[in-house]
Formats: sequence, structure tokens, C-alpha cells
Amino acid sequence: MRGKELLYAFCAEHGVPHRRCGKLIVATGAEQHAALATLAERAAAAGVRVEPMTAAEAQALEPQLQCTAALHSPSSGIVDSHALMLALQGELERAGGAVALRSRVGTVTFPAAVSGASGPEPAIVQVHTPEGGYELAAGCVVNAAGLHAPLVARRFARPAAAHVPPAHFAKGSYFALTAPPPFKRLIYPVPVDAWLGVHVTLDLAGQVRFGPDHEWLDIDDPSRIDYTVQMARAAGFEDAIRRYWPALPSDALAPAYSGVRPKIHAPGTPAPDFRIDGPAVHGVAGLVNLFGIESPGSDRLLWRSAPVVAAQPSEAVAGLIPQAGRRFAADIAAYRRADERAAHRDPWQRVRNEVVDLRQYARLGIVIAA
Ligand SMILES: Cc1cc2nc3c(=O)[nH]c(=O)nc-3n(C[C@H](O)[C@H](O)[C@H](O)COP(=O)(O)OP(=O)(O)OC[C@H]3O[C@@H](n4cnc5c(N)ncnc54)[C@H](O)[C@@H]3O)c2cc1C
Repeated sequence: MRGKELLYAFCAEHGVPHRRCGKLIVATGAEQHAALATLAERAAAAGVRVEPMTAAEAQALEPQLQCTAALHSPSSGIVDSHALMLALQGELERAGGAVALRSRVGTVTFPAAVSGASGPEPAIVQVHTPEGGYELAAGCVVNAAGLHAPLVARRFARPAAAHVPPAHFAKGSYFALTAPPPFKRLIYPVPVDAWLGVHVTLDLAGQVRFGPDHEWLDIDDPSRIDYTVQMARAAGFEDAIRRYWPALPSDALAPAYSGVRPKIHAPGTPAPDFRIDGPAVHGVAGLVNLFGIESPGSDRLLWRSAPVVAAQPSEAVAGLIPQAGRRFAADIAAYRRADERAAHRDPWQRVRNEVVDLRQYARLGIVIAA
């Protein structure tokens, strides 16, 4: 919730195109009503305003929709993600940071101790570029390498391999609708396990895409991913879409694009939450590893600073860049207090809060993410 409001405020302030179009989560059979009620309870506990709706009420909003009940989230919306990234880059550079593209982080050597008489030792980061490479001294290293994060972490001499989860990959394909848009809002089926189901996405131009589906990939190296959207998957999409939009015309789906989720559990095993591992977890000062950051990792990106910063001992962070450090130490304390209060009200809140504000953290070190 906090991440959403921060994101809307950031977009308004920076002229990033966005729209609060609203979202309907729809049940298409009575057996899904209990799951819908559970979602409504969780939303209420998290302070998110949602409106339970009958089928008729939902259909009054979206006449082409077929459902047996729905949950309406009026504050859900869409954002131009490219414009958002550009605005964040502008903020980062204004704060003295730099984005280094085509620069692959190789090994990172961490100092043995956090502090000494001369202050904390920096980590030495090897960076490979098409021209050759260079070394960087970094007070903090945030491994936010997405699909590559476990691979990158395994290249560090520390922490021990036991602190790095296995890497699994689940592809999600999207199909574009070639017919006129039937909906003005985002339409989601009731989620199954950790997968949100084939839902209706809208872009700011009003184009409708359906997806993503869920396909485990039998690979252990993300460089082997084939992002091609296979037309053969269209039939499965049609079945899923017709459950809530029976009027989907035949042959109206065209392959659009795909993405791959960084999973840290194997197929058939329960989905764990994502991980933000700081020294308290792995014992290496100046390192934060982010594992399994999948949806809604983008929506929540402005609220992610709390746990990444909190993952560092505040005195260590404060020592890195004296002035900025002192301010961040105060922020850390405030974030921790807010997090404690929220977690007390709702244990899930702590999990939801665990997202990273790369803008702030980049001032203190290197973020493997660009
Ligand atoms: C199909 C699909 C749909 C999604 N839909 C949504 C949605 O609707 N809303 C939402 O909030 N989220 C959504 N997500 C999730 C969202 O995309 C991720 O949570 C988010 O991108 C994670 O951001 P990140 O910065 O942690 O990692 P990433 O975006 O994966 O970025 C990692 C970066 O690290 C770089 N990198 C990797 N290795 C190295 C290295 N050795 N050196 C330097 N750089 C390196 C990569 O090139 C990449 O740029 C979706 C994801 C998928 C797959």
C-alpha cells in the first residue's frame, strides 16, 4: 500500500505517465468465493480499500465480463515503466550516482572485518566491459541482479554457498488482443498458489494484452532462456480468458512478449517469499543479496529501501559516507520502527515491505542492477 502511494506520488511529481484504472479480481465459480473472501480479509488487514461485488455490480462496471463475484480495487493502476526508469535514473544522477551500462560484475572480494581504526574496508568489485574492465571499491554491494542474482552471488568468495538459494526459472508469455479492447480495468482471475493467472493488462494507449502464463524452464543458466512466445500456447490462453470473457473472438490473439521470473524453489514445491539477505543472515559486512524478486517487484520499488538499508548494521552504514551515513542511520531507525509497528498489526506486512529503494542505497555503494 505504502509502495503504491509512493509510486503514484513519484509519478505525479516527475511527470511519469500513469493511470488509476482500477482492478477487478473475479471468481468464475462458487468454489472460488472463499479464496476471494480471504483476499478481501488480507486487503483489509493491510489497509487496502477493496469492494466486494456481486456479479451484477461487477458487470455494471465491465459489461463484457462473466463472473460469479468480484473484488474491486479502485486504487490499482498502470504506469509507463520505461518513463519510470528514466525518471529514477534522473534522480539517481541528481543525487551523484551513475548508471554503468554494458558493465558486468564478476567477482567481488569482501573485507574480512567490518571496521577498524581507519573505518570499514571497501569491497573490491571486478567489472567487465566490452573494452576490458576495471575495479571498483564499494562500501556496500547490493546484488539485485534478478535472474542472475544466485549466479552472481556464487561468484563471491563469501558468503558460503549454503546462503545462496537454487535458481529456477518460470517463463511468462503474453498475447496481444487484435480486436477492440473489451475492458477499461485490469481483470484478474482468483490467484492460484503464487501465480496470478492469465489476466487482462492494459497499456496507457488502451491496448489489451493477456498474460502471463506459467511455464517452468528446464535450464540452470539464464543465458539459455528463449524468450520467443510460442503460438502453440494460444489455445491455453483462449481457455483461460473465456472463463471470464466468453466473447473472446477466435484467432484474436497475437504473440506479444515474454518475461522470466527468478524462482528460488523447484517445481512442485511450496513457493517461499522473496529474500533480502543482509549481514545478519550471511555474516558478510557490506553485502545485501536480493533473491527471488518477482511480481510485484516493480510496483513496490520505492518502498524497498527499508529492508535493504535495515539489513545493514546502522553503525556500519553510517561509517561509509559520514554525512549521508548519519542521515541514513536516522532513516534506518525510522524504517525499523515503522516496520515493527506494521508487522505487529499484520505479520504479512513485514514481508510486503521487503522491497528496495535502489535510489537511496546507490548513494552508498554499488547496486548490481543496471
Ligand atoms: C512476466 C512477468 C510479469 C511481471 N509483471 C509485473 C507487474 O505487473 N508488476 C510488478 O510490480 N512486477 C512485475 N513483474 C516483476 C518485476 O519485473 C520484477 O520484480 C522486477 O523487474 C525485479 O527488479 P530487479 O531490479 O530486482 O531485477 P531485474 O529487473 O531482473 O534487473 C536485474 C538487472 O541486473 C542485471 N544484471 C544481471 N547480472 C549482472 C551482472 N553480473 N552485472 C551487472 N548487472 C547484472 C540485469 O541485466 C538486469 O538489468 C513481472 C515479472 C515477469 C517475469
